[in-house]
Amino acid sequence: MDSIYNKTYDELIKYFESIGEKKFKATQVFEWLYLKRVKSFDEMSNIKKDIIDELKKEFVIKNINLDKVERDVEVNKYLFTLSDGNHIESVLMRHDYGTSICISSQVGCNMGCHFCESGRLKKVRDLTAGEMVEQILKVEEDIKIRITHVVIMGIGEPFDNFDNFKRFVEIINYQKGINIGSRHITVSTSGIIPKIKEFEQFPYQVNLAISLHAPNDKIRNELMPINKVYPIKDLIKELKNYIKITNRRVTFEYILLDGINDTEMCANELCNLVEGMNCYINLIPYNETNNLGYKRSKKDTISKFYDIIKKRKINVTIRREFGTNISAACGQLRSKKEDL
Ligand code: SAH
Ligand code: SF4
Repeated sequence: MDSIYNKTYDELIKYFESIGEKKFKATQVFEWLYLKRVKSFDEMSNIKKDIIDELKKEFVIKNINLDKVERDVEVNKYLFTLSDGNHIESVLMRHDYGTSICISSQVGCNMGCHFCESGRLKKVRDLTAGEMVEQILKVEEDIKIRITHVVIMGIGEPFDNFDNFKRFVEIINYQKGINIGSRHITVSTSGIIPKIKEFEQFPYQVNLAISLHAPNDKIRNELMPINKVYPIKDLIKELKNYIKITNRRVTFEYILLDGINDTEMCANELCNLVEGMNCYINLIPYNETNNLGYKRSKKDTISKFYDIIKKRKINVTIRREFGTNISAACGQLRSKKEDL
């Protein structure tokens, strides 16, 4: 049976119309689910018993189970068990401007990036939109405050689960539901060009982040197999097009890996690549994982890399260090739990 958390508001309207009911029932159901946060249809007290029975025939209010929370000052890490026994993670971060959640979009990932724990473990399956929505509901239930920002940067490649990603955005953006503004949502991709093209037409102004991690094909091919399918020049060309069409800024994520992509030459090459684009570069200190053998760049190498970009007047930040103590890099908690 379908989880009701998979349904968009428009789909619920259609459902109620199909059983001969008024469409405001969809508003009531959304309010029960996302404002009052009930866990069963029986709690929807302003909806008639026979309609509740109809709902029960069609849908379940299924729940992912919270398995474990690791808590730190600015960050909590959540491990969930799905109804089929698979595990995923979400990370909550507290900022001056609010609280953001980093959610997973798949169990594992097929992109196989060599530095990434989720890539090492391959994709088991896509998450449904409902399972993405529930990560927000469960974490809010734990912290008892509203989440203001959502990033889709946990386990998985969201553009390899594109339809569910779009559905997820539509559900959490809906005003009478969780109501997270599309400008407060960011999706991160390893650079699947045809999906970036489709994303251009998506009617929600979601921010786009690109996992670049290298300034040329030689290094990127070694880190990210996807680059052999969609090489850097094509990716940049498509992103310039994206910026022109949407008038939105793109974020480049760049993990600094010791001795691999952190030289002065790499910094300059990176600047040449993105110069003139409406973008900013987010330098990420690598979170070392036991299994993969990559090392984080030294502190002064990171500063030097940053200075070179800054001097070229390109927007750049070094990502604040979140949760290195608590396995907060993508996929680390899951692989520990499953002993993978
Ligand atoms: N698949 C998407 C989104 C999930 S990965 C993508 O690749 O963009 C989210 C980000 O975490 C990516 O930029 C990824 O490169 C980065 N990442 C993966 N493993 C990491 C690690 N051990 N330390 C720091 N960042 C990591
Ligand atoms: Fe997948 Fe992103 Fe990890 Fe690459 S970095 S393996 S695309 S989750």
